Order: sequence, then C-alpha cells, then structure tokens
Amino acid sequence: MNFTSKFLAISAESWVRYALTAGIAWLLASVLFKKRWQHRKIIPRDPLPSDLRREIFWSSITALIYGIVGTTTILIGKDGTWKLYRRIDDHGWLWFATSIVLAIFIHDTWFYWTHRLMHHRWLFKWVHRIHHQSTNPSPWAAYSFSPLEAATQALIFPILTFSIPMHPIAYAVFMTWQIVNNVIGHTGYEYFPHRLMNSWLGKFLNTPTNHIQHHEKPRGNFGLYFNYWDRLMRTNHPDYEQRFRSVTSRPKSPP
Ligand SMILES: [Zn+2]
Ligand SMILES: [Zn+2]
Repeated sequence: MNFTSKFLAISAESWVRYALTAGIAWLLASVLFKKRWQHRKIIPRDPLPSDLRREIFWSSITALIYGIVGTTTILIGKDGTWKLYRRIDDHGWLWFATSIVLAIFIHDTWFYWTHRLMHHRWLFKWVHRIHHQSTNPSPWAAYSFSPLEAATQALIFPILTFSIPMHPIAYAVFMTWQIVNNVIGHTGYEYFPHRLMNSWLGKFLNTPTNHIQHHEKPRGNFGLYFNYWDRLMRTNHPDYEQRFRSVTSRPKSPP
C-alpha cells in the first residue's frame, strides 16, 4: 500500500469512528432522551447549530491529520522498529489486557501535560483556541482541534507503538475507549451518581462535569480519564466538586 491509499484509509477510519460515536451520542442525548436526561445537562441550554457545524468541520480536518501521522508512523515502524506484534501467544493474554490499561494511563499523562502546555499564553492562540471556541460543547466537539493540536493528539500512536508491545486488537480496544470517553466528556451530561464524589473513586476518576467546566472556564481541570494529575498539581477548579454535587442533585424532570 502506498502513502496515499494508507493515508486515505486511516483518515476515513478515524472519521467514521468519530462520526459514529458522536452521532450515537447526539441521537441519544439530543433526540431520544433529551427530556428524560435534561436534569443532568451540565449547561442546561443547547449548543447553537453554528457550534455543531464548526465542531464537525474541525473534527473532519483532524481525521486527515490522524491520517498523515498514522501513515508516517506505519511507514517508519513497519520495518521492525515498532513493537506491534501479530500473534497473541507472543506475550499472552495477561499482557494483552495489561497493555490496554498501560496505554490508558500513558495517554492520560500525555494528554494532561500537553493540554496544560497548550494553555500557555504563547501557545493557546495557535494550538488550542479552536477547541475552546466551544464554550458549551456537543458530542461533535470530540475532535474539534486545530491541525497543530490534532498532530499533538495523534502522537499517542507512535508513543504507544514504539514504547510498549501492543497487539493491533489491544490498540483498537484502546482507541474505542478513547473515542467513547472523549465523546461522553463533550456531550455535556453528568452520568455518574451523586455519591461518587464522596468516595475515593470520585477523586480518582474524571467526570463530564470536570471537562465541561474546563470549556466554561479554561483556567483549570486539564485531565482526561482520571483526576489525579489535576489533584497532584492542584489544577482543579476550586468549585469543581461543588459543581458536580449541584448537577447530580437536581430533581428529575417530570415525564
Ligand atoms: Zn474539550
Ligand atoms: Zn483546554
């Protein structure tokens, strides 16, 4: 396969993965269960149609950037320098599962620190401003990045495949986890129970409230799947937990 056909295949795959996941979330949250879930909408008003159009446009550009980074990685890696392996028996099932968990933690760390860097005043305008044009994001904002931010996000592919042995199916599971969490984080509904924040799990996991608050007020809440980096670095918004408690204690809307 030459560069162009590989590039087109990876771009199309990235776009379909995005459109399918965001489309399902949008259908559930904005059409089928709109009334039933309304009390859990973190920002009660709807995003504007112009927001959705902008988010879909930039997410589609992101799919092309993923195609470029993905193809380059494959061209460099397939001569044996990367650690992707084909036979599960080479490392066994325990490693297969462990590699997925490791990938999630490595991605969480990569995201937190690059995200914080993008908020530096020298970089924000050039790299991260497009993502923050969504102050009340929709699921379509999942890949709404500038090309520079998309390239930074895409680097997780070479980072993982050049550093830890991964089976392609394990990588696909990781990518599914990534897009599902990303879309849920931008759909704008808090699905965790109120009691979560009273437990250690609530301090450890990240929540949709955390990321939606980041879109409202970009000065805190930089985490992705987990909240421990924000806690260690004291970058959570001071009222994050209070916001979570208030969103999760609203009365259910009448049927
Ligand atoms: Zn976001
Ligand atoms: Zn940000």
